Amino acid sequence: MPYPILQLKPKRDKSILNRHPWIFSGAINKAPKAEEGDIIQVRSVEDKILGYGFYSSKSQISCRLLEFGDASHDFESVDYWFQKLLKAYSIRQKLVVSPITNAYRLVHAEGDFLPGIIIDIYANVAVGQILVKGIENRKTLIVEALQKLGFQNIYIKSKISSHVLEDIQAEPGWEIGNIVSPVEIIENGLKFKVDFVGGQKTGFFIDQRDSRQLVKQFSQDKKVLNTFSYTGGFSIYALAGGANEVHSVDISKDAVAAGDENVKLNFPDANHKSFAADCFEYLKEMPENYYDIIILDPPAFAKNARAVTNAARGYKQINLQAFRRIKPGGLVFTFSCSQNISTDLFRKIIFGAAADAHRNVRVIYQLHQPVDHPISIFHPEGEYLKGLVLEVE
Ligand code: SAH
Repeated sequence: MPYPILQLKPKRDKSILNRHPWIFSGAINKAPKAEEGDIIQVRSVEDKILGYGFYSSKSQISCRLLEFGDASHDFESVDYWFQKLLKAYSIRQKLVVSPITNAYRLVHAEGDFLPGIIIDIYANVAVGQILVKGIENRKTLIVEALQKLGFQNIYIKSKISSHVLEDIQAEPGWEIGNIVSPVEIIENGLKFKVDFVGGQKTGFFIDQRDSRQLVKQFSQDKKVLNTFSYTGGFSIYALAGGANEVHSVDISKDAVAAGDENVKLNFPDANHKSFAADCFEYLKEMPENYYDIIILDPPAFAKNARAVTNAARGYKQINLQAFRRIKPGGLVFTFSCSQNISTDLFRKIIFGAAADAHRNVRVIYQLHQPVDHPISIFHPEGEYLKGLVLEVE
């Protein structure tokens, strides 16, 4: 069956020849006669076939490419999706999965050349988050491919993300299997309960695995403050590293309760206290010279490009408070997961905060998303998580 054809404007083929997977509406010469989520063929104005992708008439991103070049593929076969998943799976088996870690991101959308879908694995449960109609339409194929890979419990959350306006309204639920949420996972030997049904995103922030391990390394005999603590990830690693006191702060009571439960699961007698509070307030009012380590891992303050100025203000504020009050020689672990705040801009914001705090600040580590959140070299937009470890004199 011939594919509907999207023809680009003159000279707009360059980024596609460079394998950037998005076509914006402004680059289109002739729109395809296609429905939302159909697979279309992309051509240059000279009619050269450049690739194939999901069409959207509703999103600013009119097409997300799955394949580049003119070779055709059997997009409606299980095998096509199986081969794609298998590649992603092999990398994770080699680099992440181990007897002490069974939670990982199996598919990181464009970073795995699979736009529009995220799949996280929690022990024996696969949790998918669908972001575009093209994937929603092929859900059955993807579920079958996941089964072929060995997953027997597959839960799908379809979601309209802030930058993808496609209209996906499917109810979240089991495609196959049924396991009571939360499920218990281990990460670097530590236990966590993951509520993939009621939790944020797919239930757990897998992307901080490596950074948490670094916190553990520095925590011996330290007083640690974990802000925006969610399910307590950094707090539990700090305790594992021998911290003598850990405080967790999150605005959500449910998150605080889940964090407490995770602490108990690992260290029933830990010196740990949690607070359901606004971190902006907590940081402003916390005692001076008390904490040796402060972790700042807020939600994405800049959900879109227009929100960058306000977001920058937010990042600056929390970092400034941490710099002002941390014990001399203390460490601030600071993060931004806003895709719209570049590594450069983040550093400038931190610079501003350090300058205003009038203290000497050294960068001792530069952190980023872990191996199971890869970035396609052709799609730098996939780089969203950045962090700095700062020593404050
Ligand atoms: N650091 C966590 C992930 C943080 S997610 C981890 O490693 O798992 C962001 C968290 O910030 C959410 O739990 C959300 O409830 C919380 N949050 C958002 N705004 C907040 C605020 N103003 N004060 C405190 N917590 C806030």
